[in-house]
Amino acid sequence: MSKRVMNPAARITAVALAAAGLGATMVAGAGSAFAAEGNAVAAPVALTASAAVAAQADTQAHVAAQVKAAAAKASAVKQAAVVKQAAAKSVAAKKAPSWVKPVTSYTLTASYNQGGAMWSHKHSGQDFAVPVGTPVKAAGAGTVVKAGPNGGGDGPAYGNAIVVKHTNGTYSQYAHLSKIKVHVGQKVGAGQQIALSGNTGNSSGPHLHFEIRTTPNYGSSVNPAAFLRSHGVSI
Ligand SMILES: [Zn+2]
Repeated sequence: MSKRVMNPAARITAVALAAAGLGATMVAGAGSAFAAEGNAVAAPVALTASAAVAAQADTQAHVAAQVKAAAAKASAVKQAAVVKQAAAKSVAAKKAPSWVKPVTSYTLTASYNQGGAMWSHKHSGQDFAVPVGTPVKAAGAGTVVKAGPNGGGDGPAYGNAIVVKHTNGTYSQYAHLSKIKVHVGQKVGAGQQIALSGNTGNSSGPHLHFEIRTTPNYGSSVNPAAFLRSHGVSI
């Protein structure tokens, strides 16, 4: 009976029986059968004992293998998690933010819907007080649809202005600029510099007038601060 070909289940049964004290009975039974043939009694006992040892060794080896496999699996899972995490991190690093503030450093002045002598109706945007020449960035990715003096076509009150059409059907407008750095039809990314701020048009002092609109034109503005906030940008 080779150790290699022995059925592991049989070995375990032998061990279990031996542990339960039944092994002795079996051996005795086998022994009495063998008794007729003389001194062969010792053989099954020795065999059973060696089988038990073998079974135990096998079980131990099996457990060791299982532990090893589990450790390997855990290690593999851990490695997979690390790889996954690294991949997610790299994606996050590569993915540019969808929306950003149009200027980085500023003082908020006139807010949306504010009344005042400066506007024929309510204020249609959010004012960011910044020195003339401050870089103005596209608040989101899109295509320039208006760019030029006379508010890019919206009227002289805006001075030099830009309107960008975004992919989700929203438009952003930037007014009172000193220098326009994009042209109509140009694609821009979120945060890309498109102009320098100024004090052109109907402006009470150097600032960026920023609107979010539902069309390219004056009169379709929504609250830009609320819009940015709903896109994860607080000003
Ligand atoms: Zn304004």
